[in-house]
Amino acid sequence: GTERIYGTPADTGQGWKVYAGADRAKVVARFAAPYHRSLLFIGLALVALLTLTLVTYRRVAGPMVRLARAVRANVDADERSPIEVRGPSELLAVVAEFNHLLADVQREFGERIRAEETARRFAETYERLFGDNPRPLAIWDFSTYRLLAVNDAMVGHYGYSRAELLELRILDLVEPSPDVSDDELRRRLEEHAKADTVQHSGPWRHVTKDGTPISVEITSQSFDFHGTEARFTQITDITQRLEHERQLQHLAVYDDLTGLPNRTLLLDRLELALVQAQRSNAMLGMLFVDLDRFKLVNNAHGRDTGDELLRSVAERLRASVRAGDTVARVSGNEFAVLCPELADETEAISVTGRIEGVLAAPFELSSGSVFVTASVGIALSRGRDRAEELLRNADAAVHRAKERGGSRYEIFDEAIRHRTLVRLETSIELRRALECDELRVHYQPSFDLRSGACTGAEALVRWEHPTRGLLAPSDFIGIAEETGLIAPIGNWVLRTACAQAARWRADGLGPLSMSVNLSARELTQPDLVSQVGEALDQAGLAADALCLEITETSLVDDPDASIAVLASLRALGVSLSIDDFGTGYSSLLYLRRYDADYLKIDRSFVAGLGMNMQDDAIVTTTIDLAHVFGMAVVAEGVETHEQARGLLARGCDYAQGYLWSRPVPAEEFVRLPLRGGTIGSSPHGEELRA
Ligand code: C2E
Ligand code: CA
Ligand code: CA
Repeated sequence: GTERIYGTPADTGQGWKVYAGADRAKVVARFAAPYHRSLLFIGLALVALLTLTLVTYRRVAGPMVRLARAVRANVDADERSPIEVRGPSELLAVVAEFNHLLADVQREFGERIRAEETARRFAETYERLFGDNPRPLAIWDFSTYRLLAVNDAMVGHYGYSRAELLELRILDLVEPSPDVSDDELRRRLEEHAKADTVQHSGPWRHVTKDGTPISVEITSQSFDFHGTEARFTQITDITQRLEHERQLQHLAVYDDLTGLPNRTLLLDRLELALVQAQRSNAMLGMLFVDLDRFKLVNNAHGRDTGDELLRSVAERLRASVRAGDTVARVSGNEFAVLCPELADETEAISVTGRIEGVLAAPFELSSGSVFVTASVGIALSRGRDRAEELLRNADAAVHRAKERGGSRYEIFDEAIRHRTLVRLETSIELRRALECDELRVHYQPSFDLRSGACTGAEALVRWEHPTRGLLAPSDFIGIAEETGLIAPIGNWVLRTACAQAARWRADGLGPLSMSVNLSARELTQPDLVSQVGEALDQAGLAADALCLEITETSLVDDPDASIAVLASLRALGVSLSIDDFGTGYSSLLYLRRYDADYLKIDRSFVAGLGMNMQDDAIVTTTIDLAHVFGMAVVAEGVETHEQARGLLARGCDYAQGYLWSRPVPAEEFVRLPLRGGTIGSSPHGEELRA
C-alpha cells in the first residue's frame, strides 16, 4: 500500500514540493476533502448560473421578444396600438419612447388621411357643382380666350367633344356675323369680363358644332385657375325663352287658330292705309266677311270641325286677295279684308264676288263636306275716316246683310248709318222705356184643335214708344239682346205674365196656361231658374200654369248647356216649349234630350201648308216626330181655316194665330169670344168643325 507521492507546490499550497512514499489512501484522503468541496462549489455555481440565466431570460429577453413581436405586428397592422410591456426600466423607457413615436406617427397619419378625405370631398363637390351642373359652364384663359375646362353640359350643349372644346376659344362659339368683327367681339368680351365683380351679358348669338344658332346669356367672374388669370363663365340658353316671347308677341297681333292678323293688327294696318289713302286720294275698302250659320257647323260636326272650317276659310280668303291686301280674323266667324287701293266701289264689289266665289266650293273637312255662305259688309273710305269708325261701319253693313237673310253683301251707306243710329238711339231709349213703364204685354190665345177649347195664352211684349207708337218686338228685342237689356225686360214680362195668369185664374177664366218667350241670352243667365221661381211665387201661380218658350235656334247654340238649363227649369215644374221649330236645324238626337212638352211649328211652314208640298211634308213629319218623342204639337201663325183643317188632319194638337185672335192687351183678351173657354163658341169655331 505504499506509493510514491509527488506533491507540487500547487498541490500543497505551501510552496514546497513533496516527495514521499506514503500510504496512498492516507495521503489521498488528505487531499480528497478539498476536492470534494470544489466539486460542490462548482455544482452550486452551476445552479446559480442557471438561475441567473432563467431570471435574465424572463426579465430581459422575454420582454424584448414580445416587444419585437409587437413592433412587427404594429407595422403590419392597420390599426396601431401602444405596446404594453412590463419589464426593466430601460426596456420600459424604450417602450415608452416607441409608444411616443407610434402616437406621433398615428397623428401624422390621421392628419394625412383627413387631408386626403377633405381633398376627395372637395373634388366631389367640384365635380357636382361644375362637372354635373346642368348649365353649361366653362373656364377660359383671359389672355388667350382659350377654354381651360368645360363641364358635361357644355359638351352636350354645343355638340363638341371635350377635347375639341378645349382646342377652341370662347370667341369661336359666337356665331360669325359680317356685322361683328373678331376685334369687336374681343372688345365686347373684355368689356364684359374685365371687372372683378360678377358680370351678366347677353343675349349673345352662339352656334353649336352642327351650325345651330342659339341665344345665350352669360355670367362671368374672375377666377384664378391654377395660377392662370381665368374667367368662370356660366351660360344660359335663352333660345326657347326668346322664341316663346316672340310667339307671345305674335299671339298678341295674330290669331292663334288661323295665323291671320287679328283685330289689333288689322286696326294698325288700317290706320296706316288710311293715312296713305288720304295722301294719294285713293279709295280704301274694308270688307267684313261673316260666315252664315257657322254655329250650326260647330254644333252638327263639333268644335274641331268648326276650327278646321275656319282655317280653310282663312286659307281661301288669303288666296283670293291681292298682294298688299290684309285678311284678318276679327272675331269668331268674322273675317275682314282690307283693300288699301281700290279704283272705285265696283272694285270692292268685285272683290266681294271673288270672296263669294272661293267660298262657294264645298269644304272637304275630316267629318265630311260642308257648304258655307257668307254675308259681307263693305265700308269704303278716302282716308278721312277714323279706323275704328270704318270697322264699325263695315260691321254695321254686315249686320244689315245678315238682317236681310245673309249670303249677300251690303255697302255701308246713309241708310245703314241711319239704321245704326236708330238702333243706337233705340238702345238708349229702351233703358228709359223700362224705367218709365212704357212696355206692355199682349196676349194671344191658343186652342186645342180637337176640342176647340182655349187652353192658353202667349205673352208677347210691346213697347208703347212716346213718339213712334206701339213697337213690335222685332223693333227692339234684337237690340235688347245685344245690349243685355233683355235680362230686365224678360224678367219684367215674366212677372207681368205670371201675375196676369194668376188674376185670370182667380177670375174664373179657366186653367189657362201662360206661355212666356225666353231669348237665347236669357238662357245663359245664371239666375234664370231662381228668377222664374220668384216670379211664380210672387204671383202665387202654380208652376204647371207656366210654359216657357225657347226658340230652337237659341238651343242649338250650345245644346249641352241648353239641356242642363232646361232640366233645371223642368225641375221647377214649369212646362217647356220649343219655339219656331224647323228654323234651327236641331239634330234629332238633341230634340229628344231637350225633353220639352211642346213643339211649336214655325209659322213659315204653316203658311205654306196646302200650297207647298215641301211644307206639307215638313209639317207632317214634324208632327209625327214630336209625337214619337212624346211632345204635343202647337202650330203658330194659323190664319186660315184651310191651315187649321190641314193641321187637324195631320194630328196637330194645338194652334194659335190671327184666325182666332191677334195678340191683344189683357183687358181685351177677356172680352175675346172665348166663352166657356171653347173654340166652338168663337166666331170661327163652327167653320172649323165643319
Ligand atoms: P214668336 O214667339 O214666334 O211669337 C209669335 C209671333 O207671331 C208674334 O209676333 C205674333 O204676333 C205673331 N203671330 C201670331 N199669330 C200670327 C199669325 O196668324 N200670322 C202672323 N203673320 N203672325 C202671327 P210678335 O208679337 O211680333 O213677336 C215676335 C217675336 O218676338 C216672337 O216670336 C218672340 O220670339 C219675340 N218676343 C215677343 N215677346 C217676347 C218677350 O217677351 N221676350 C222675348 N225674349 N221674346 C219675345
Ligand atoms: Ca213664342
Ligand atoms: Ca214662334
